[in-house]
Amino acid sequence: MKFSELFCPTLREVPSEAETVSHQLLLRAGYIRKAGAGIYSYLPLAQRVLRKIETIVREEMDRAGGQELLMPIIQPRELWEQTGRWDVYGDEMFRLVDRHQRHFALGPTHEEIITSLVDNDVHSYRDLPLLLYQIQNKYRDEIRPRFGLMRGREFIMKDLYSFDIDEEGLDISYRKMYDAYHRIFQRLKLQYRVVEADSGAIGGNESHEFVVLADTGESEIVYCENGDYAANVEKAACVYKDEGNDEAPLEMQKIHTPGMRTIKDLVEFTGQPEQRHVKTLTYYADGELVAAVLRGDRELNEIKLKQVLGCRELYMADDAAVREACGAGFGSLGPVGLNIKVYADLEVAGMRNLTCGANEDDYHFINVNPGRDFVPEDYVDIRNAVEGDLCPVCGKPLQATRGIEVGHIFKLGTKYSEAMNATVLDQKGQAVPLVMGCYGIGISRTMAASIEQNHDENGIIWPMPIAPFQVIIVPVNAKKEDQMSTALALYNQLQEQGVEVLLDDRDERAGVKFKDADLIGIPVRITVGPKALQENQVEVKKRWENEIQHVAIDQVVDAILEIIHQG
Ligand code: ATP
Ligand code: MG
Repeated sequence: MKFSELFCPTLREVPSEAETVSHQLLLRAGYIRKAGAGIYSYLPLAQRVLRKIETIVREEMDRAGGQELLMPIIQPRELWEQTGRWDVYGDEMFRLVDRHQRHFALGPTHEEIITSLVDNDVHSYRDLPLLLYQIQNKYRDEIRPRFGLMRGREFIMKDLYSFDIDEEGLDISYRKMYDAYHRIFQRLKLQYRVVEADSGAIGGNESHEFVVLADTGESEIVYCENGDYAANVEKAACVYKDEGNDEAPLEMQKIHTPGMRTIKDLVEFTGQPEQRHVKTLTYYADGELVAAVLRGDRELNEIKLKQVLGCRELYMADDAAVREACGAGFGSLGPVGLNIKVYADLEVAGMRNLTCGANEDDYHFINVNPGRDFVPEDYVDIRNAVEGDLCPVCGKPLQATRGIEVGHIFKLGTKYSEAMNATVLDQKGQAVPLVMGCYGIGISRTMAASIEQNHDENGIIWPMPIAPFQVIIVPVNAKKEDQMSTALALYNQLQEQGVEVLLDDRDERAGVKFKDADLIGIPVRITVGPKALQENQVEVKKRWENEIQHVAIDQVVDAILEIIHQG
């Protein structure tokens, strides 16, 4: 490809809306353009990278026994009603109505479609296992689309679904995908961690997330240095170790706290650290008002709370409703004498002489002691894990880091097949529900994640396996006949060897061309300049190194092939 013909509209300025490196560079280097919030066009360079990522994913899916198909994006409401997800999916689902007033979803995921497909056409255990996948756009009306391709509303996903006759079969399919995912992310040259996305102590099905390590990532993970545990903070089980708090309980007192609503206000007012306070949050759990109590510096985890309560619907109560039921508004609530059910986080049990709202506006209690002054329904794990929490496996303090979830594998079991009555006949001729797994990779998010890990102040540094072009040839002066003819000859020779080459034939200053080559991130640059040419040489530079090598022209092709081979 000649640069002069390439559609690659680069930008000088860093676009102001872009907060993350990948978003900035994808815009600046002419890879993507925004059509609407979370909706992008992929320009030719991006499309080349996406195709390469897809090829690696396809190869590994096929190697693991997957078969590619393509399912519709437009999905009838009736299918989603069978699983109850037409309602449960909520506002994240894009919905549309056709001219006959029939309702459809723009597929956010494909469990419903594929379960009905397999149910209709697969009848016997003999036809299992079945691993079916597709690579396709997904639609999710994300509440906060952001960071460019990281959290789009239209994005590309690979989704594979496994169908087995029993749990043992599912274990095998799951293992195949687990291994295939490792191969994929290794081939993509990403630094990543696999974390348990299982709810751990609270039970649930096995699930793992593949998380690319990056400070800008939206996932926060905790892991044990021993390597025996790693989990998303939202999913990590928090273990509480009773270290025997021997602080003497003091007498509970009510204090006047005019206008103090937040923990921060109270910390300033009382001079007591956040860890001495508890906060009381109120929720409607399937319509019943309940309170969740946790240490002032902790974050409540709604997923855990929902599981603990075993409710279907959980949403925060509003101030007016709380005031009517409890006699005080948010910020003045506390577990002492509260007239609704109280669930306290595990570690609250070990707190002494704590401060909390007095269920009376502008009053708080100090020196409250759990067990003596209030007894919750139960002490439960309802908070997000943090650095320093104890490893649930070995008890060592956990480390925390941030990352980008690029892949997610999940044992679904019979959740969907039972809801949709999707059965096959087993060895005994009995109809049994299909045992399923689902396995996703965010293809477009992976492209962005790779940039987060591979860049410098000048631009992108693509790893060889997914670079849009492997080599760029830059004649210093495109008007000089000898430079251009050498560049062209190399261009042809490399192409004959199957190398993907970009020839910068533009009549631009060398500096501009070098800057663009760096910005778009081509791994190897060959510079054809007057000085080296006198000695029948060209310059070869790897994007990730500073040194420039001088290579004899008749050896360049071999040298390049060697670099590509090394990957
Ligand atoms: P997240 O927690 O980031 O919202 P998710 O759990 O909703 O992700 P899955 O439903 O498991 O994601 O989807 C599989 C993969 O699709 C994810 O691992 C991620 O790589 C990708 N993905 C999910 N949502 C988006 C999005 N809005 N934009 C780009 N990629 C996405
Ligand atoms: Mg999501």
